Amino acid sequence: MPEKHVIVIGGGLAGLVASLHLAGEGIGCTVIEKATYPVHRVCGEYVSREVIPYLTRLGAYPSALQPAQIDRFQLTSTRGDLAELPLDLGGFGLSRYAFDHFLYQLALARGVRFQLNTEVTAVRYQDNSFTVETTQETFSANVVIAAHGKRSRLDKEFKRAFISRHSPYVGVKYHIRLPGFPADLIALHNFENGYCGISAVEGGIFNLCYLTHRDNVRTHGNLKEMEESVLLKNPFLKDIFTHAEFLFERPETINEISFETKGPREGHVLMCGDAAGMITPLCGNGMALAIHSAKLAAERVVRFCQEPGYNRERMEQDYESAWKQSFAFRLWAGRNIQRLFGAESTSQFAVQLARRMKPLANGLIRLTHGKPF
Ligand SMILES: Cc1cc2nc3c(=O)[nH]c(=O)nc-3n(C[C@H](O)[C@H](O)[C@H](O)COP(=O)(O)OP(=O)(O)OC[C@H]3O[C@@H](n4cnc5c(N)ncnc54)[C@H](O)[C@@H]3O)c2cc1C
Repeated sequence: MPEKHVIVIGGGLAGLVASLHLAGEGIGCTVIEKATYPVHRVCGEYVSREVIPYLTRLGAYPSALQPAQIDRFQLTSTRGDLAELPLDLGGFGLSRYAFDHFLYQLALARGVRFQLNTEVTAVRYQDNSFTVETTQETFSANVVIAAHGKRSRLDKEFKRAFISRHSPYVGVKYHIRLPGFPADLIALHNFENGYCGISAVEGGIFNLCYLTHRDNVRTHGNLKEMEESVLLKNPFLKDIFTHAEFLFERPETINEISFETKGPREGHVLMCGDAAGMITPLCGNGMALAIHSAKLAAERVVRFCQEPGYNRERMEQDYESAWKQSFAFRLWAGRNIQRLFGAESTSQFAVQLARRMKPLANGLIRLTHGKPF
C-alpha cells in the first residue's frame, strides 16, 4: 500500500498534538501554521489534568518547564462576594508561549515537517485526495486535519454558518507578577458583562485573562478606561490591578470569539480543537478538549492509513460520533453555565451556590470537564 501523507492546518495545541501522535505511528505529516513559534496567545493558560496520561504516553508532558500546580478554585461575584472550592482534578498552569514552543520542538525532533508563516487559503478534495492551497505554495495530501482555531478565513472558504454572524465577545490577556498570590489557586472574578481569570504559569508569573462584551469596551472608549470603570468595581480585581506588575507593553487581544455550534467534519476534512467547537473559557477546558479531539482524530487517521478495510467514510463517521459523544454536551453545558457570569444577581447566585451547595457546584464543574484519558 502506498504511504499516506497527512496535512494538519494550524499548529496550536490541537494541531501539534495530532502531529505528534501521527509521527509516533510513523505517519508522514506536515503542519502548516500561519504564525511562528514561540508566540503569545489569548488564553487563561490553565490546563485540566485530564490530559496528563495521554501527554505522558506521547512523551509530551512538559514537566521540564515546571508548570504551576493548581488545586483550588475561587469565585467572586461582581461586588466581591467570595466562594472557594477544592478542585477534584485540578490543573497545571503553563504559558502557551512555552507550551506550544515545547510541542513544536518535540514534533520537529520526531520528523514532523513544518511550513511556518504560511496561511492555508483553500482545501479541495477530488479523487480521494486533497489539494491544500496556501499563501506560499500548493500541497497535496491523503488526509487533512483542520486545527485552525476559533476563527479563520478557512471557515469562510468552508461556508460555515457561524462565520457569517458577528460575535460580541472580546478576550484580553496579560502576564503579571503578583507577589503574595497563591500559585495553587485559580480565581474567577466577575465584573459587569464579563469575567476575569487569574492563575499561575511557569517561572513565578501569573496569567490575567478576561472575556467581555465588545459594547463594554465601546462604552468606555478603550480597555484601560473600561478596566478602571468596570473591572475595578470588584474589590478583588481592584486589589490585583493595583498591586500587579504588568509584563507586556500592551495586552494580547482577540475579538469575534464565537461559542456557536460548528461540528467535527467539513466535507472530508476532520476538524479538531476550537475549529470543531469552542467551550466557554470559564470552564478552563478548551485546551484539554483540543488535545483530546486531536487524539480522537489521530487514532482514526492511523487506522485509515494502516488498516486496508478501514475506509475514509468509516474514519469520518467514527470521528464524528466519537467527537459528539465526548464533547457536544460539555460545550452545551459551558454555554449555559456562562449565563451565570457577568451580572450582579446571577454571579451572586453562583457564589451562593458554590458556598452552600458544594457538591452541586462541583457537579457543575464536572459537567464541563472530561475524565483523564
Ligand atoms: C479569553 C480566553 C481564555 C481561555 N482560557 C483557557 C484556559 O484557561 N484553559 C483552557 O483549557 N482553555 C482556555 N481557552 C481556550 C483555549 O485557548 C482554546 O480552546 C485552545 O487554544 C484551542 O486550541 P486549538 O489548537 O484548537 O486552537 P489555537 O491554539 O487557536 O491554534 C490554532 C492555530 O491555527 C493557526 N491558523 C489559523 N488559521 C490558519 C490558516 N488558515 N492556515 C494556517 N494556520 C492557521 C493559528 O495561527 C493558530 O496557531 C481560553 C480561550 C479564551 C478566548
